[in-house]
Amino acid sequence: MRQAFAGHGASRGLALGRARVRLPHVLEMAEQHVPAAKVAAEAQRLHEALEAARSEMRALRVKLQGALSREAVEFIDLHALLLDDPELVSALDGLVRNEHYSAAYALRLQRDRLAAVFDSMDDPYLKSRLDDLDHVIGRINAHLHRSEPVPRGTAGEVLVCDNVAPSEVAQLLTQGVVAIVSSAGSPLSHSAILARSLHLPLVVGASDALSRINDGDVVMVDGEAGTVVVEPDAEDLRRYHQREQQEARERRDLERLRSKPTRTLDGVDIALYANAESREDVGRAHALGAAGVGLFRTEFLFLQRNELPDEDEQFQVYRDAVLGMSGRPVTFRTLDLGADKVDRTGLSLENEDNPALGVRGVRLSLLYDRVFDTQLRAIARAAAYGPVRVLVPMVSCREEVMLVRRRLARAVAAVRRQGIAVEAPPLGAMIEVPAAAIGVYGLLDAVDFMSIGTNDLIQYLLAVDRNNDALGDLYSPLHPGVLRLLAHVIRAGEESHTPVAVCGEIAGDPRMAPLLLALGLREFSLHPANLLELRRAIRDCRLEHLRAQAGKLLQARDRNGIERWLAAAMTGARTNE
Ligand code: PEP
Ligand code: MG
Repeated sequence: MRQAFAGHGASRGLALGRARVRLPHVLEMAEQHVPAAKVAAEAQRLHEALEAARSEMRALRVKLQGALSREAVEFIDLHALLLDDPELVSALDGLVRNEHYSAAYALRLQRDRLAAVFDSMDDPYLKSRLDDLDHVIGRINAHLHRSEPVPRGTAGEVLVCDNVAPSEVAQLLTQGVVAIVSSAGSPLSHSAILARSLHLPLVVGASDALSRINDGDVVMVDGEAGTVVVEPDAEDLRRYHQREQQEARERRDLERLRSKPTRTLDGVDIALYANAESREDVGRAHALGAAGVGLFRTEFLFLQRNELPDEDEQFQVYRDAVLGMSGRPVTFRTLDLGADKVDRTGLSLENEDNPALGVRGVRLSLLYDRVFDTQLRAIARAAAYGPVRVLVPMVSCREEVMLVRRRLARAVAAVRRQGIAVEAPPLGAMIEVPAAAIGVYGLLDAVDFMSIGTNDLIQYLLAVDRNNDALGDLYSPLHPGVLRLLAHVIRAGEESHTPVAVCGEIAGDPRMAPLLLALGLREFSLHPANLLELRRAIRDCRLEHLRAQAGKLLQARDRNGIERWLAAAMTGARTNE
C-alpha cells in the first residue's frame, strides 16, 4: 500500500528502486512475549528464518565463487558456520519455546549475550568477530520480517538503513545502489558530502524508514525534498517522470553558464573554487570553469581500505589532480581523519569518549610523524606539475601552523634532494575551530591563506553535533554568533591581504550567497555539482547594495531577523532598490 513520509534531503536527485532493508546492528526491540498457544508457530517462524538465512548464504557463496577474494569467501563460510552453531540455534529455540519470547526478541537477547562474551575477550581478532555475529543476526532478523520472498534482480536498489558510514558510500554505488534512505544521520555528515560528490541521492533522518519499508518494496526517493514514497501509485510515477524531465531542462539551462564569468550585476568577479574528493570531481571542476580546487579532501584516499597508501600512490593521485586542473591551483588538505571519518587502516583512534573533540585533523597528523611526512612529500612532488597549496585542518593555535610549516619545508627539501625542482607551496589554515576564528589576528603572519570550514565551525561554535539529526534546526548558519565570527575572519583577511575562502557546505548553497557576499567574501569553495547554480545566484546579486546592508545583517538578533534580511536583500540586490 502507498505510504509517503519525509526526512531531510542530503544529496539531491531522484531515484526509483527496490528497497534493500538493512536493520541496525544492535536490535532495538522491547521485550515481547507470545501467548502459549502461538509458541509452536513462533518457533517454526524462527527456524524458517534460520533456514532462509542459510540458503541465502549458500546461494551467495555459489554466485560469488571465483569473484571474491579468499578472505571474503572465508567470511561467508564463517557466517554460514555461525548459522549452524548448535549453541546459537538451541539457545534461540529455548528462548522461544521455554520463555515464550517472540523470535525477534529472542534474537536480541541471544545477540546481547554472545556480544558480552565476545567483548570480554582479550584477543582483538576474536573481539572484532562481533561484527560477523551482528551480520548473521541481522540476516535472520531480516528474514523474520520478510513476508514473502524478495525477488533479486539487476535493477537498482534503494538501501534503507539506520546510518551509513562514509567508508561504504562509494562501495554501495558500485554495487548498483541507486539511493540511500537512513533513519538517522544529517545532511552535514561526511557520508552526505560523499553522496553529493557521487551524485547518489540520499535522504537522512527519515525516522520511520525502518519500520515502514519492507525489503523488496518499491521506493521512490527525492534526495532534494527529502521525501520517500513507498509503493508509489500511477500518479506518483507520472509526477516522477515529469520531475525527471524538468530536471533535465534545468540542467540544460544551467549548462549555458559554463563559459560565463562569475560576475555580480555591478561587475565584480567572484572566485569559485571546487571541493573535490576524487578524480571525477577534479574533471568536473575543470569543465565548469572553477578557479581551482579550494579543498581536496585527501582523507578519502585513506578510507575504504585496510592498508595505508604509500608515497608513490599518494603522489600519483595528487599529481593527477594537479594535471587535471591544468595550471589552476589545487589545494590539498592534509589528512583530516578522526571523528566520523574513521578509517580501517588503524590510524584513527578508537574508543575516544568524545572523538569530535579528540585526535582528529592536524592533531592526528602530528601524532603519526611518518604518515604525515609521507603525505607532505607526496604533495611536494606533485607541486612539480602545477600550482599546489597545502591546507591544514582543525587548526586551533598558531603553534600547530608553525610546526606544519617546518615539516613542509623539510619535505620540500627532501624532494629537492631527489633533483626535483619545487618551491614550498603556500600554506593555509582551515578556520573551523572557534578559538582559531576568534584569535585569527594571531594566525595571520603564520599563514598564506585561510579557508573557513563552516561545517565544523558551526558545530563547535553552537555546541551542536553536525551529525545529530535530533538537534534539527539548532544546527544553522543563520545564527548571529556565526555571522559575526564569519565577518570577523573575513575582515581580518581583507585587512592583511590574506585570501579567505569559505569551503563548508554553506558556500555551495545559492540561498546563502547574498549573505556571504555582504560579509565581504570573494572566494567560495564548493562541490562542483552546485557550481553553476551558485554562479547563477551570484550573477543575480548587486554587490554594492549587499555590502551597504551588511551592518543591518550583523545587527539581526535571531534567525528570523537574518531570514528577513536575506529575503529583503535578494529583492534589493536584483532591483537595485
Ligand atoms: C568544514 O568543516 O567545513 C569542512 C569543509 O571540512 P569537513 O566537512 O571535511 O570537516
Ligand atoms: Mg571540517
